[in-house]
Amino acid sequence: MSFRSRLYNSINNNSSHNALCINGCYCTYKQLAERVAVVQQTLIQQSGSLDRIGIVLSDTVDTYAAIIAILLLGKTYVPLHPGHPGERIQQIVSQASLEVVLAASATPQLAHIACVDMSFLPSVSSTPVLSDGDFSNAFAYILFTSGSTGIPKGTPITYDNIDSFATGFYAIGYQLTPQDRCLQMFDLTFDLSVVSYLMPLCAGACVYTLPDKGMKFTNVYSVLEEHNITFALMVPSILSFLRQYFSEIHLPQLRYSLFCGEALSADLVTEWQKCVPNATIDNVYGPTEATIFCTWYRIDTTGTVGATNGVVWIGKPMLGVNTIVADDEGNLVSTGEKGELCLAGNQVTPGYLDNEKNKTAFFTLNGERYYRTGDLVLLHSDGNYIYCGRSDHQVKIQGFRIELAEIEHHARTAFGCHAVAIVATSPQGINQIELVLETEATNKSDIAGTLKSLMPAYMLPAGIHFVKPLPLNINGKTDRKELAKLIATAI
Ligand code: AMP
Repeated sequence: MSFRSRLYNSINNNSSHNALCINGCYCTYKQLAERVAVVQQTLIQQSGSLDRIGIVLSDTVDTYAAIIAILLLGKTYVPLHPGHPGERIQQIVSQASLEVVLAASATPQLAHIACVDMSFLPSVSSTPVLSDGDFSNAFAYILFTSGSTGIPKGTPITYDNIDSFATGFYAIGYQLTPQDRCLQMFDLTFDLSVVSYLMPLCAGACVYTLPDKGMKFTNVYSVLEEHNITFALMVPSILSFLRQYFSEIHLPQLRYSLFCGEALSADLVTEWQKCVPNATIDNVYGPTEATIFCTWYRIDTTGTVGATNGVVWIGKPMLGVNTIVADDEGNLVSTGEKGELCLAGNQVTPGYLDNEKNKTAFFTLNGERYYRTGDLVLLHSDGNYIYCGRSDHQVKIQGFRIELAEIEHHARTAFGCHAVAIVATSPQGINQIELVLETEATNKSDIAGTLKSLMPAYMLPAGIHFVKPLPLNINGKTDRKELAKLIATAI
């Protein structure tokens, strides 16, 4: 059964159950269904022929109702984060060719585009529609990730991609029921949000979002504990933060504890196991381009963890995912040799919106179309992939994917300074990035202010430094390792 049919049936069959808990307020499936129906009617009446619909995100029932309305109609949603700089939002609007945007409240000014404020849509007692037709190749959503040229990169994911993900998800054995309470800790611009709301809603379970006030990671723990969460997908950096409280944390109700988005520390997850004695703990891995996640590794209940250099393995491909390890030229490397993980199968996106990027990101081998992940791996003799880091300058900060080159591009343009470097550092085990400019020292808060107007908050450097000249490695490139050392000793 397609995920759209599952979602539709679940909404209709679980009317009296809670579907969402947002900021402590519950919304039943019946209430959600009514808002879905209202949004659908509006979309059909006001923009019937338009397929791509922007959603200005907010933590409200209407935002989720809009997503579900669009999915059931077989259209495409494009999340727009109101906290991101206006220029970035405009770039997304124009790349995705959006002509209509739904917002749950007052909308930021978007040029040449119709905005529907959902808070003014009347309440009606009507039911959602599930559009007929073959939507398998239609785009369900388009997500924009950091792009190395300074322009966000649009990745469309089709209905078939999501159905293939769902098949793999169920094949792993994850079974959610209407009794489950599931954590949704992610921005809706990030694809880990999709599994966090969609799979629970397809099962009649309740989705708990994070309170919008307070510190994110503290809120995660409060929601896990207060609401007896049973299914939680989180980014590993949460463990570095929670470690200081591990001795007090006891979450026996948690059935599934999944980690994704960045390297998972074996030490931390072994300690975490004691906090969640009844949970199945999995390290899942995957890029947005291959729909949410596509490999998985289960942490043994006895505490034996497959790890290399302290990083938990990313395991085996999910059902329907094909993997190879290739060298720079796209040739297969011998088993046990390090290379780039390349992914094929129905979870892989048909390609970026920007065709130029597809030329290097995808290749065909023996009739299969592969996506180059940029992730370095080794295949263990038992079939598990060992994660060895990135082959490029992409980093993860709290799970957000960031191209260091994108920040460098903004810094170079904004400050007219040719030699800049973004350096990834990890004080107290928490990843962050720092900006180094090859100039005389100037006012750091002015620089920070300018960067804030150009990039989302998660891309802003935690520190700004001035080094003249920048150190170079033997190849004549900026020596980021040396800079990281200089930063550690406070340049
Ligand atoms: P995104 O497209 O934002 O989901 O980011 C995908 C990237 O996150 C991957 O290419 C990896 O570099 C990294 N990643 C995701 N999951 C894991 C994991 N379990 N272990 C290590 N890195 C991961």
